Amino acid sequence: MTEPEDAGTRRKVKPVICYPPETLPHPDLSLYNTARETAVKIGEVIVAPRDAASIEVPAGHFLKITSIEGPQVGDLNLFNSGNLSERFFSGKTRALHGTHVTTGDRLWSCFPYLRPIATVTTDTLDWYGIDEFGGSVHDVIGTRCDPYTARALGGPDYHHCCHSNLTRALADTRRLPMPDAERLVHDVLNVFMCTGFTRDTGQYFMKASPVRPGDYLELFAEIDLLAVMSACPGGDCSSEHSSDTAACYPMLMEVYRPADESLQGWRSPPENPYDRSHGRAASNAAAD
Ligand SMILES: [Zn+2]
Repeated sequence: MTEPEDAGTRRKVKPVICYPPETLPHPDLSLYNTARETAVKIGEVIVAPRDAASIEVPAGHFLKITSIEGPQVGDLNLFNSGNLSERFFSGKTRALHGTHVTTGDRLWSCFPYLRPIATVTTDTLDWYGIDEFGGSVHDVIGTRCDPYTARALGGPDYHHCCHSNLTRALADTRRLPMPDAERLVHDVLNVFMCTGFTRDTGQYFMKASPVRPGDYLELFAEIDLLAVMSACPGGDCSSEHSSDTAACYPMLMEVYRPADESLQGWRSPPENPYDRSHGRAASNAAAD
């Protein structure tokens, strides 16, 4: 199409942030950091390469996800442990916090709940920032590698995609029929993955993750969580996924419990944070 005469002027219009985060409820990171100091480990699970595993993370506990042995990306699903229909909402987390998350950002749940279900309390890759290609770490823009897209792109069937791994692990831990588990698997937090969109064509790209063994991402569980994670068959995602080509490594998920008195004043966000009959936050109504 021919450009209008004022095309340049239109392009110069300054963007506005869709969701200024200033009015979001802010996590008390100092409270969490203090609680973490006294926390003791109560459980762990190794996520085998090209496979997935799950672990329960009670509200008020920490989930530590660590790279061990070699650079590896993890595809993380989070569920309300008591209600699997409440799940991590990658899209709205992205709209609120940007394309990649780091310390202080929160992970939100799907409609109609939309509440922070986890808070990022430590990110040892926070030094990375945004690189010259527009890439950064821990994205909420990817979805998960899956056999359907691989097939659409003309690739061979591959059964250790993150989608498949997550489905099997969820079915296994909750004794669900595979089709039921598959419908509950959702867009992931791409732990340690380095991604972005190309500036010239806007295409989704990945590049070798900067993660080194010992790096970790730690989350505080705002509600009772079931965490399911796949060690992506893409390994560090520097070349390809959906195959056995890339070098892959295990990952570690650990759960830490703080001393009870260290979380004085903290409580889970309410399951129904909004007064739907009036369309405003219940907390505002209570303050009237
Ligand atoms: Zn994957």
